[in-house]
Amino acid sequence: MRNLLINLLCFNIILLLFANVSAASRDSLKVITTFTILADMAQNVAGDLAIVESITKPGAEIHDYQPTPKDISKVKDADLILWNGFNLEIWFEKFFVNFKNIPSAILTTNIVPIPIKYGDYKGKPNPHAWMNIENAIIYIDNIEKALSKIDKKNEKIYKLNANNYKQEILKNIRPIKDKILSIPTKKRWLVTCEGAFSYLTEYYEMKELFIWPTNSDTMGTPKQVKNVIDVINNNQIEVIFCESTVSQKPALQIAKETNISYGGMLYVDSLSTKNGSVSTYLDLLKKTSLTIMEGLLLNE
Ligand SMILES: [Zn+2]
Repeated sequence: MRNLLINLLCFNIILLLFANVSAASRDSLKVITTFTILADMAQNVAGDLAIVESITKPGAEIHDYQPTPKDISKVKDADLILWNGFNLEIWFEKFFVNFKNIPSAILTTNIVPIPIKYGDYKGKPNPHAWMNIENAIIYIDNIEKALSKIDKKNEKIYKLNANNYKQEILKNIRPIKDKILSIPTKKRWLVTCEGAFSYLTEYYEMKELFIWPTNSDTMGTPKQVKNVIDVINNNQIEVIFCESTVSQKPALQIAKETNISYGGMLYVDSLSTKNGSVSTYLDLLKKTSLTIMEGLLLNE
């Protein structure tokens, strides 16, 4: 708590130092997002009309991030801030107090949340709503609205970009859904480390099992591991996966103890750098969906 107060105090002092620096004269808008997935979505809608930057970096753990003084200087002259909401950015809420004057939008607005089932955050919305493409369409609509509000003269361009982007997502993901739905229902289990896939399993009509409910909770306790082993054994589940931003150890341990396959790494919270395998939201969704599909078909 004391550290937190010192941190907040430092932010406010630095903010005062920057308070008189106005937005530089730029040709394009500056849009800031809390994590890389939102940055990629926003860049697709904004096209050349905005430079979009994420506060958290590619590959980062996004639930317990500690903003730095550098982040403050990044945000202070932004024209728009986009964030997820649904309790993802608890760290950002404290940080955001300093930037109330900058227009902002919460991209989960109009999405029906799926509550977290148990643990410290029981009953709160599961934040990973972007993993169901029907929700992603709503994120894109919300980005379009937010950009059009601050830059009305270009609203037609934002609408066109948003429509093209939505079509591209649907065209790429729907065929994967058709393939997953052709797998027998009793085999359609998704076992992961974090409970980050409630929205994805909703879209692919799968049952969900995870070791811990969210990365903000305790991760991989012996009790959590035992519960998952029991469900795997009782349902003849054949494969387990884990996400890229956390330790794979508990999932590998479970695979070994239950003698099932390890299906590989799933991407959900963070994009890779430009040269990595999931440098866009669409690539992330495709790669994760295909890894799941191939994992389910491993023993066919
Ligand atoms: Zn997560």
